Amino acid sequence: MKKMKKRQSAQDIFHETNFLFKEKTTDFDKAIPGIAEIFVDVKETGDGVNYPPHSIRYTKGFLNREYLPCSNEQCYGGGLAIADIIREMVYDRKTILEGSARCIGKEGSPKGRRIYGSCYNEFEYKIQIKYKQQNQATSAEKKDEEKK
Ligand SMILES: [Zn+2]
Repeated sequence: MKKMKKRQSAQDIFHETNFLFKEKTTDFDKAIPGIAEIFVDVKETGDGVNYPPHSIRYTKGFLNREYLPCSNEQCYGGGLAIADIIREMVYDRKTILEGSARCIGKEGSPKGRRIYGSCYNEFEYKIQIKYKQQNQATSAEKKDEEKK
């Protein structure tokens, strides 16, 4: 198989422009605290995916990024916005979540100067979280207590 040409992914652009993952830390615990263990199973379908698609499991040490990569060789600025999904799960104190999301990228020329259309790669994901004990009281629970 020939080596994929290097195209900017959402993660690359993010690294150049954005500080959301808490001052560009690659430390998952600093970026999204309170998680003891996490498993993210992702199955991508679409261009550049080897068929039949199989799911990839990411654990905490491999989730030091905002976006999981898209396999479409034409895709610019793409990926799955996994950190957003995880942050929302943590906010809602969910332990399991299944869903799917389209790639956020566009198909275009390598530097992204010409855009041909949206990337249609899709990610099915299943996320399982085990929370740390000491952080049991979430902001949502505290709000509930204040209402009493
Ligand atoms: Zn894509």
